[in-house]
Parts: sequence; C-alpha cells; structure tokens
Amino acid sequence: MSRVALVTGGTRGIGAAIATALKAAGYTVAATFAGNVEKANAFKAETGIAVFQWDVADPAACEGGIAAVTAELGPVDILVNNAGITRDGWFHKMDHAAWKAVLSTNLDSMFTMSRPVIDGMRERGFGRIINISSINGQKGQLGQVNYATAKAGVIGFTKALALENARKGVTVNCICPGYIDTDMVAAVPEKVLEGIIAQIPVGRLGKAEEIAAAVVYLASDASAFMTGAVLTINGGQYMAN
Ligand code: NDP
Repeated sequence: MSRVALVTGGTRGIGAAIATALKAAGYTVAATFAGNVEKANAFKAETGIAVFQWDVADPAACEGGIAAVTAELGPVDILVNNAGITRDGWFHKMDHAAWKAVLSTNLDSMFTMSRPVIDGMRERGFGRIINISSINGQKGQLGQVNYATAKAGVIGFTKALALENARKGVTVNCICPGYIDTDMVAAVPEKVLEGIIAQIPVGRLGKAEEIAAAVVYLASDASAFMTGAVLTINGGQYMAN
C-alpha cells in the first residue's frame, strides 16, 4: 500500500504542484481547499487527486476533514501544511481582522492540522510534516507584518516539533520559498513585482514545481536524517539559514 499524503491548499499554486508531484512519486494524495470549488473540481478532473474542502484555521473542521481523508484513503503519513493567505497593508493601517485572518490561516493551522495526525505518526513510527513558510518570515517585508509574523512562527513550530518527534521516525521540516509564480504573487502590483525580480540573483520568479521537488525529497525515506531544517529556495534572494 502506498503512503498517504495530505496537502493543504493543494488545488492550486504551489500546493497543486506539490500534490501532483507526490502523486507522480507514487503516494496516495489528498488535496484540500478553502472555497474555490470550481478550481478544485478542475484540479480533481485533471489529476485524479481526491479533493476535500475545509478551513484549516477551524480546529473542528480539521478534525472532521482528517477523519474523512483517513476513512477514504487511510491514515495520513505525510502532511504538507501549505495553505496560506496574505492580507497586506502597512501595520499603522492594518485592522485586527487582517492580522487575525493571516495568523489563523498561516500559523494556527500548524496546530489544527498537525495535532490530529501526530499521534498516529508516532504510533506507526513513521511520519513527515512539511511546512511551507516564506522568505518573508526570514527577513521581514514591508506591508506584511502579519504574514512575516505567521511565517516566522512556522519556523519555530517546525524546530520544536522536530525535537519532540525525532526519536519516533517522524521528521518535521519547513521550506521558505522566495517569490513563486502563483496567484498569490499575481496579486502583487506590477511595479512592486518588477522591483522584487530585480533583487533575485537568478533573475526570475520561481516555479511551483521547484518547491514541489524539495517536498518530494522531504517526504521520502531518503530524508530520514533531516529534521528541523529550514530549506531556503529563493533564487539566491536571501541567503539565510
Ligand atoms: P495560492 O493563493 O495560489 O493558493 C492557496 C491555496 O490555499 C488554495 O488552494 C486555497 O484554497 C488554500 N487556502 C487558503 N486559505 C485556506 C483556508 N483557510 N483553509 C484551507 N485552504 C486554504 O497560494 P500559493 O500557492 O502562492 O502559496 C502556497 C503557500 O506558499 C502559502 O502558505 C504561501 O504563504 C506560501 N508562499 C508562497 C509564495 C509565493 O511566492 N507564491 C512565497 C513564499 C511562500 P482556495 O483555492 O479554495 O482558495
């Protein structure tokens, strides 16, 4: 039986590339989404990957959703915490709703999604939790105090959870993508984006598939000695570790 991989926000953008690459690598894959049913159905039809709708910020919805995935496909061996949103704006103009939405979706989801699967991974002696942070969680970014806070939190979450589970065959790692060509980046004003690309030594935006390739490695048996790692994949834009 192939291992089961669950990818949040797996129906478009980076998540869709991850789900597709994991399926190609032989995993049984479930992809979740929030509200874009049309996109999710098109992705399902195109790839044959099972899709599930729930809000990753809602603890009860995550419990129920993971139970549904388990009933349909089997227990989750690989969890990719990828779903994320931005609500950009300067902090002195930011309202609490924009703060809360970004912290809930990008950071609370680490708890709500990982907590229901961790016991099973520990009991079975195998698990992979792969969290998608961001270059802007490493270096900060104008207009993204909420997002940078959440994504920096993802790094701390990754390292602490990695320590707790290192002896149980469960690894926890995170990836900090730079600017990747998805809907999220399409929302950045053109002039700002031009300025960003000028700062990328490789001279272009990244491709979702370039993040997916690293996830496939982190999901595999070959990565067993890597845990608590922060993989920086950003075209050389910020060389932090
Ligand atoms: P997209 O906006 O293209 O896709 C986001 C996905 O997440 C969608 O499937 C969306 O579902 C889902 N989603 C959003 N909110 C929720 C929620 N509350 N519950 C469940 N699912 C949700 O994002 P990207 O592919 O660009 O980004 C993916 C991840 O990578 C995010 O965590 C992002 O912060 C991170 N990242 C992205 C970078 C980039 O340059 N694109 C750079 C660095 C990090 P639906 O389709 O229903 O809306």
